[in-house]
Amino acid sequence: MKIQAITLFPEMFQSITEYGVTGRAHKQGIWQFAAINPRQFADNKLGYIDDRPFGGGVGMVMMAEPLLKAIDLAKQNCSGSLNSSRVIYLSPQGAPLTHNKVKSLSELDNLILLCGRYEGVDERVLQHGVDEEISIGDFVVSGGELPAMMLMDAVLRLVPKVLGEMASAEQDSFADGLLDYPHYTRPAVFQGMAVPEVLTSGNHALIAAWRLEQSLRRTFLRRPDLLAKRVLLPQEIQLLQKIQSESTE
Ligand code: SAM
Repeated sequence: MKIQAITLFPEMFQSITEYGVTGRAHKQGIWQFAAINPRQFADNKLGYIDDRPFGGGVGMVMMAEPLLKAIDLAKQNCSGSLNSSRVIYLSPQGAPLTHNKVKSLSELDNLILLCGRYEGVDERVLQHGVDEEISIGDFVVSGGELPAMMLMDAVLRLVPKVLGEMASAEQDSFADGLLDYPHYTRPAVFQGMAVPEVLTSGNHALIAAWRLEQSLRRTFLRRPDLLAKRVLLPQEIQLLQKIQSESTE
């Protein structure tokens, strides 16, 4: 997968290209990254690519021309099929980012991520150069770089070989429509608190059953909306009935 970010702050992306699992996978060539600074397409010597908003008001707006030229350059630099690429504007007004969206993006060859600053970008960029707008939540941050990196990290975790053998995204929250079960590590007793006995029993079938019940319990208590969307197996329906009756006792 190749990811290109259109950004006024290319250096910010070092935190994802150089650190952690995404950094290791980047060094191994499992995914490629390039940043395009739209200032290179400024029509003035000082490199300004923003201007005051028509109609007045506070703040500045990123201009259409340098951004559309940057998008064109990114499209020329795409690897693999152009049909398998997407231009995304990170925006608080976009569709909320979900596991299903992350999964579908992880199957593409190219992502082009447009990072806004100031009051945002000229609306004509969105009409002519962007395939979709994605939000990381109902709040506003100062620029699109952190949202872009969050999207990148979530997507890259699902790209084959990025996580390696040591970790799996399949058991993570949302992957199968449930929240993850609780995790424990050594010591078995910490400040008088012992880990659940079943986890040290060595009985894999009992451990799997306990984990499923815990996942269902957490999802029922914290995110019942997820359960409403999920097709439950007979064993899960039984467990859920038990959890529901316990919670009303
Ligand atoms: N005036 C814009 C609005 O209210 O919709 C917010 C502009 S914000 C200060 C600057 C940039 O940060 C945006 O252009 C966008 O790229 C990014 N941004 C801010 N909040 C975001 C969010 N929740 N999700 C994705 N991107 C966001």
